[in-house]
Amino acid sequence: MKKLALHWQILLGMLLGVLFGVAAVQLDLKQFTIDWIKPFGTIFINLLKLIAVPLIIASLVKGVSDLQDISKLSRMAGRTVGIYLGTTIIAVTLGLVVVNVAQPGNGISEKTRQELVDSFTDNAQSKITAAEKQKEAGPLQALVDMVPSNIFAAASSNGNMLQVIFFVIFFGIGLILIPPVKAQPFMEFFDCLYEVSLKLIDLIMLMAPYGVFALLAALIVEAPSWDIFRALIQYSLCVLFGLGLMIFGFYPLLVRSFTGRSYRSFFNGISPAQLLAFSTSSSAATLPVTMERVEEHLGVEREVSSFVLPVGATVNMDGTSLYQAVAAVFIAQAFGIDLTLYDQLTIVLTATLASIGSAAVPGAGMVMLVIVLGAIGVPEFGLALIFAVDRPLDMCRTVVNVTGDATVSMLVAKSVGKLGDPKVKNWDDHYATE
Ligand code: ASP
Repeated sequence: MKKLALHWQILLGMLLGVLFGVAAVQLDLKQFTIDWIKPFGTIFINLLKLIAVPLIIASLVKGVSDLQDISKLSRMAGRTVGIYLGTTIIAVTLGLVVVNVAQPGNGISEKTRQELVDSFTDNAQSKITAAEKQKEAGPLQALVDMVPSNIFAAASSNGNMLQVIFFVIFFGIGLILIPPVKAQPFMEFFDCLYEVSLKLIDLIMLMAPYGVFALLAALIVEAPSWDIFRALIQYSLCVLFGLGLMIFGFYPLLVRSFTGRSYRSFFNGISPAQLLAFSTSSSAATLPVTMERVEEHLGVEREVSSFVLPVGATVNMDGTSLYQAVAAVFIAQAFGIDLTLYDQLTIVLTATLASIGSAAVPGAGMVMLVIVLGAIGVPEFGLALIFAVDRPLDMCRTVVNVTGDATVSMLVAKSVGKLGDPKVKNWDDHYATE
């Protein structure tokens, strides 16, 4: 008998996870879920992260050295950064339009506002402290942080992805500059490492339905009181509406206009990565799968994907920037603060920079939101207002972040003549299980 296709298995895992979580809350099985179910979700995420550094190194070394000359690399890098910035600015602007039209913060009563602030002040404080640290740094700190002083130290933490990328590009340039015969053994080694990493992702993905089951069950039992959620529904709808426009309108339209690929083939190719982004709330954890899907199912050649996607996972967060714009204006509205046009432009600038600075891990966008709030003079403890719904919105914005990276990789690939036919036409074939 033919087994269910992987994406259905993942969706089923998600659904059962939510149902299990709801039942666990009713039956007082919270602790059981945390002790016995949640660890499997953690193991699943750890496995994905485990494969990220070897995959990025192998794929980027190959990608850069395959380019064969440095001018090609800088052309591609220029386009990548340009398109990434463009899509992020569009996302922030879209968020601002939605939140200014819908005005979700104006209807909040004094009582609800106090309730929200009281319940989440402690959580908000820890985010504010984390952001303070980032603010203390000098203007060029981000640049300094990109250049590692020790590659082994950098590669030993998933949080230093930009440092690893910097080193690998530097190394790849070295490989281009030495005689090809000398570079050959190294290239073969990385080729092999790359193939093995992809195979391991296939194996890890077999665990995906169980992993997402555990993640969602744990999320439900650990969620705070649902009562307060009601006050935040309007705000959440604004964020979701904006994110939805990005996923279902903006990206497929870009892909269609610039590459001629249909809506269907785009979603068929990328949806397992989207589902995973939703379940893990982390673009970094999703990266290995995004790379595999984009290469095998969307036809982006490795030279492009190996550069564009790891960079994108770290710096391109359209969903996060859109969310930051909506959240900042919502909090201002809730406090009755009028924002001028200048404030709104400040949001475009700071949300763009803050999303670039956000780590690709759960909740990072909220830490950086503190910086946006500070820039427009909105009290930072206003974070407490939106804390309750942050996780579900984080899950959705991560889907946008990942979809944005995949889209840009297709556009860049097309622009440098590296967009071929997908290697796997039918998306079930790859994980085919008879
Ligand atoms: N979780 C998001 C990501 O990994 C970042 C964020 O917005 O918090 O892409």
